[in-house]
Amino acid sequence: MVRKSVQVLVIGGGPAGSTAATLLARQGFKVMLLERDHFPRYHIGESLLPSCLPILDLVGAREKVEAFGFKRKGGAYYAWGEENWELRFSEIFGTEYSWQVRRSDFDQLLLEHARSEGVEAHEGVAVRKIGFQGDRAVNATWERAGAKGEEAAEGVVDFDYVIDASGRAGLLATKHHNSRRHHDVFKNVAVWGYWKNTKPFGRGPENGIGVCSIPHGWLWQIPLHDGTVSVGTVLTKEHLRKQQAGQADLKEIYLGHLAENPLISNLVSGAELSSEIKAETDYSYVTDRFAGPGYLLAGDAACFLDPLLSTGVHLAMYSAMLSAATLSSIMRDGIDEQDATSFYEQAYRTSYERLLVLVSVFYEAYRGRDDHFYNAQRLSRREKGNLKLHEAFLHITAGVEDLADAMDQERAYDAVAKELVGPGAEGGNPLANHNVNMLQPPDAPGRSLAGLYLAIEPKLTLLRAS
Ligand SMILES: Cc1cc2nc3c(=O)[nH]c(=O)nc-3n(C[C@H](O)[C@H](O)[C@H](O)COP(=O)(O)OP(=O)(O)OC[C@H]3O[C@@H](n4cnc5c(N)ncnc54)[C@H](O)[C@@H]3O)c2cc1C
Repeated sequence: MVRKSVQVLVIGGGPAGSTAATLLARQGFKVMLLERDHFPRYHIGESLLPSCLPILDLVGAREKVEAFGFKRKGGAYYAWGEENWELRFSEIFGTEYSWQVRRSDFDQLLLEHARSEGVEAHEGVAVRKIGFQGDRAVNATWERAGAKGEEAAEGVVDFDYVIDASGRAGLLATKHHNSRRHHDVFKNVAVWGYWKNTKPFGRGPENGIGVCSIPHGWLWQIPLHDGTVSVGTVLTKEHLRKQQAGQADLKEIYLGHLAENPLISNLVSGAELSSEIKAETDYSYVTDRFAGPGYLLAGDAACFLDPLLSTGVHLAMYSAMLSAATLSSIMRDGIDEQDATSFYEQAYRTSYERLLVLVSVFYEAYRGRDDHFYNAQRLSRREKGNLKLHEAFLHITAGVEDLADAMDQERAYDAVAKELVGPGAEGGNPLANHNVNMLQPPDAPGRSLAGLYLAIEPKLTLLRAS
C-alpha cells in the first residue's frame, strides 16, 4: 500500500534516489521512494569513481558493496590522440580503487539497503505528476501499471518535500518546468554492447576503464564481474546520422568503429557479442532550476554530462548527499528553506560545471585542432557565457589563480585549462596536474555557499558560516 502522506517523497530508485532516501531515513525522517520499474533493471553507467566510497560509508552500504564481488577498478588507461597514459586512483585521489559495477546489481543492492534502513520503497509505481499550491510542490499523483501480477492502482501522496531523482526522465524539469537545456556542444550519441570471451585489454591499472579516441569520437571498455566486457563508442550525432544515411545499420556502424582502434579491435577479436546493441542520444543537458519551494532535483534529473570521465554516478550520489543535508537542515535544524535550497542549487551546479569544464578541456587539449571531433566538443563562447563559471573557477583554481582572472570568463577559462592540463599540455596526462580539490564539497566555513556549509559529523546538515 502506498501511503497517503509522507515527510519526504523520493522519485526514482537509482543511485541518487536510494542514497538520498537512505541518508534521510538514517536520521529518523519518514521517507517513501517510488520507483517506476521493477528491480533488477538494466542501466548503463558502470564505471565508478573513488568519490563514491566515502558516500557509501555514510549511507552504510560500503560493506555490502565490498562483499558483492564487483571488480575493483584501479583507474583508467587513455589512448587519446597521439598520447597514451594511465591514471592510477592511488596517485590522484589517495584511494586505491573504485568498482566496475553491473548497474542492475549495484542499484538493486542500494535500493534493498535503503529498505533495510527504514525507507518505504515501492517498485512498479511511477509518479505521473507533481501537484503545486502556488509555486510550492505539495503532492504527487502515482500509478501502478499492474505488471508482475500486481493490481493496477493509482493515488495521490502528500509530502513536505520531494526529491526528484527520476534520472534522464526528469519529471519536474521536462513535465512541469520545461527547463532542460541541451548543450550546444556534446551533441553526441553512444552505442554499446557486451562481449564474452574477450582477449585481455592488457593496458593500465588492474580492471581499469580503457578510453581510446578514434577520428569521430572515442571508445570505452569496462570489464565486469560477470565475465563480460562493456564496449561502447561515443560519436557525434552528425557523424552517426551521415553513416545511417549511407544505409549502414547500427550494429555495422558500431563494429566498424571498434575496428578503428587497435587496442579495442584486439580486445574483441575472436570474442562473442552477447547482447543486443544499445544506444543513447542527446545526453548532455542541464536544468535551469535545481531546487524550489518544496522540491530538489538530484542526479541526472538535474543535469547530465558526457560520460568521458565516468562522472554520472559520482554526481548522482554527491547531489543526493547534498539534498539530504539540505532537507535535514530545514526540517530539523531550523535553517531557512530559501537559504538551504540556494546552497543546494549552487553546490550541485558548481560541481557539475567544474566537471563540464574539465571534460571540455580534456577534449580540447588532446585532439588535433583540425580534428572534427575536437571542434564539435569545443565549448562555444555562448556556452561558456551561460555557465556560472565564476564559482567553478574559484573552486578549481583555489589558491592558484588571481581571482581577478576569474572575472573575465574567456581568460579565466584559459587559466583553468592551464591549471587542469598543466605544463604537460603538449602531451601527457591532463589529469595529473589537476587540483584534487575540484571534487571537494563546500564542507568548511571558508567554502560556504549562500552563507552555509555542509556538515557530516555528528549529523548530516548545513551550518551557518558565521
Ligand atoms: C552512454 C552512457 C555511459 C555512461 N557511463 C557512465 C560511467 O561509466 N560511469 C558513471 O558513473 N556514469 C555513467 N553514465 C551516467 C549514469 O548512467 C547516470 O549518471 C546515473 O545512472 C544517474 O543516476 P540517477 O540515480 O540520477 O538516475 P538513474 O540511475 O537513471 O535512476 C533514475 C530512476 O528513476 C526511475 N524513474 C524515472 N521516472 C520515474 C517516475 N516518473 N516515477 C518513478 N520512478 C521513475 C527510473 O526507472 C530509474 O530507476 C553513463 C551514461 C550514459 C548515457
